[in-house]
Amino acid sequence: MLRKNFYVRCSVCKSIITDDEQRFFDGFDPCPECGNKGSVARELWPKLDMLDVLDSIKFPPDVNDAGKLKLVLYCAFFEALFEDFLAGLLDKMNTPADMVDYLLESNSSFLERLGLFKQTSGESLETVLGKADYGEFIRAIMFLNDEKNRFVVQDHEINFELLAKSFQAAEQNMLSAFVFLNNKFLR
Ligand SMILES: [Zn+2]
Repeated sequence: MLRKNFYVRCSVCKSIITDDEQRFFDGFDPCPECGNKGSVARELWPKLDMLDVLDSIKFPPDVNDAGKLKLVLYCAFFEALFEDFLAGLLDKMNTPADMVDYLLESNSSFLERLGLFKQTSGESLETVLGKADYGEFIRAIMFLNDEKNRFVVQDHEINFELLAKSFQAAEQNMLSAFVFLNNKFLR
């Protein structure tokens, strides 16, 4: 399961905060980063319904079918979070909104988006995440993405044992890795 914490984003300072008791979200506590007290400034993070989708999916009992479905979903989930993050990063660099759209559209593949991150931040995503102990996570994501592409375009034999390890690394770190990226680059 991906949902382990209740995360809230302060739209004033852009920090993502772990808020398991919903004290911040419900307006009892000010933002621990910027002190903002207005409850309208708090948004649930991530905004995506995909968390609920993942939570509610009954994966098929057949390990192969469940593995393939998970593979596609996890890659899509990473892509959606990464797109949201990149849009925020470009915005932070004062990129005009229509240019942000153009850059995301013209760099739509996984590798192009990694390139866009490197161009914008000056470092590769692997390096940034590796330094913060998310090296295994990003390697898992890259492996899953590679497997997904090969399985989508051809009849590729999937090694489910390897996949299971990568799923675990993705599940454990998907949200916290993006909280880290958000709080390092966007606030
Ligand atoms: Zn704040």
